[in-house]
Amino acid sequence: MYQTDIQTINSALGVFLSTKNGMARNIMHRTISKILELRDVTKVELPSCWITRNGENIRITPKNITQGKECPLCGEAINPPEVVNDKIVPAEVAIISIYECEDGFDRVTYGCSCGAIFGRYENSGRVKYVEVI
Ligand SMILES: [Zn+2]
Repeated sequence: MYQTDIQTINSALGVFLSTKNGMARNIMHRTISKILELRDVTKVELPSCWITRNGENIRITPKNITQGKECPLCGEAINPPEVVNDKIVPAEVAIISIYECEDGFDRVTYGCSCGAIFGRYENSGRVKYVEVI
C-alpha cells in the first residue's frame, strides 16, 4: 500500500460520511475494494477502523465501541433518519453496516458527519435461548 492509496481510501470514506448518500456509498465500496484488490491486500488499518476485503466485499470494523447514544467524538445524537416529503433525510450519524450475531447483539457500525467511525452493540431481540439441563 502506498500513502496515496490510504489518502484515496480516506477521501472515499470522507465523502460518504459527509453526504451519506447511496451513490457515495457505492463509490466508497468500489474504490476501496479496487485499491485493496490492486495491491493484493485483504486488510488495511486506518486510525478509526480496520477494513477487510473478501472478494469484492469490504467490511469496516470500528476500533472504538461505544454504549452511549451519541457520537463519541463530537457528541451528535444517534437518531434514526427522518422522512420528509417521502424522501429519507439521513441523520448526522448514519449506519454504515450491521452484522447480526448469534448472541442476540448486532454489531452496528456508525459513521458521523464529523468523520468518526464507531461501533455499538445493540440488542437485536433475536436471542436464542439455550435450554440448560
Ligand atoms: Zn461525530
